[in-house]
Amino acid sequence: MSGPEPGRAWARIDTGAVEANAGALKRAVGEGVELCAVVKADAYGHGAAPCAAAAMRGGATRLAVAAAAEAEELRQHFPEAPLFVMGALSERDLSRALDAGAEVAVWREGFRALCSRMAAQRGESVRLHVKHDSGMGRLGERDPELVLGLARACAEDDGLELAGAWTHFAIADELGDPFLDEQLEAFAPVAERVRELAPGAIVHAANSAATLRDPRTHFDMVRCGVALYGMDPFQGDPAERGLAPALELRSYVADVKRFPAGASAGYGRSWRAEAETWVGVLPIGYGDGVRRALSNNGEVLVRGRRRPIVGTISMDNLTLDLGPETDVEPGDEAVLIGPQGEERIRAEELAAALETINYEITCGVSPRVPRSHAR
Ligand SMILES: *Cc1c(COP(=O)(O)O)cnc(C)c1O
Repeated sequence: MSGPEPGRAWARIDTGAVEANAGALKRAVGEGVELCAVVKADAYGHGAAPCAAAAMRGGATRLAVAAAAEAEELRQHFPEAPLFVMGALSERDLSRALDAGAEVAVWREGFRALCSRMAAQRGESVRLHVKHDSGMGRLGERDPELVLGLARACAEDDGLELAGAWTHFAIADELGDPFLDEQLEAFAPVAERVRELAPGAIVHAANSAATLRDPRTHFDMVRCGVALYGMDPFQGDPAERGLAPALELRSYVADVKRFPAGASAGYGRSWRAEAETWVGVLPIGYGDGVRRALSNNGEVLVRGRRRPIVGTISMDNLTLDLGPETDVEPGDEAVLIGPQGEERIRAEELAAALETINYEITCGVSPRVPRSHAR
């Protein structure tokens, strides 16, 4: 892959991998089921527009985001693509989402009425997806009868179009937990009755984990994010699910220095050389999204080998112990996420060290890090 001239740190996103992952998800759900590419939060840090384009090349037919501003940005790149804003919207943001031609979520009568007024003002219909909270306990209405009442009110309102009925799973990523079945049982009858009300409405529930785990969750469309970017929703090895990680995070060795025994690296002197050693300094730090909790608790690849992060990670720099003898030289490339030689550091590995999930790792690569995209 080609990219910009390397600066202090850079991320490369393989849009070919995103396209292939979309293709794999599309094959997993089969012909009759739509793939909606979830590209919120700048495509989990991967770059919304190029990833959306790649996902659509791979078979996605719709795009979903969390916020009105995200829909606005995508609309500039994709004049025709169906957009869905999944999140809660203030009145101002609803207006922006509709200006962007997006479909929106509804689960309260007050919001439905607001949409109806906006439809009348605009002289064009507003497309709504009624949301059932089948157990996630976040957005959506819990009571199935209220969900259906809302769906009926949408269907009967000339200014509104009942475009979908949907829900979201709380623990699809925990294999073996029966709560997914409970949520399915709660949602399936709601979905069925919405279909009777509005035969054109699409029913959707599955995120990446549910999509890969259980075909009963597929309904008319699946909403996949994390798997699209080649990360494993179950926090294992994405390769075992046929997914290719799309993001690489790289920097370089700016300096290599001899440390006598007892010398310390970084703020707070949290690490001291036990014996004479070489230390490599990388111009990347928590200001770039390399979390400070990886201090003395992570590794970076240089010359195809794992090198421990030593000392406290600072905003702009971090230090590696290269050992008593080293062939590492200033200018050598350093890989924080991705492969080098035979080695690879995956987002899942960093997530485990940080007691978080891979989603947060790539979302955390800061805007200071330039992204380049190549197939
Ligand atoms: C983020 C999100 C998704 C995508 O989830 P993944 O686990 O990344 O596939 C789907 N649906 C909703 C409502 C979301 O917020």
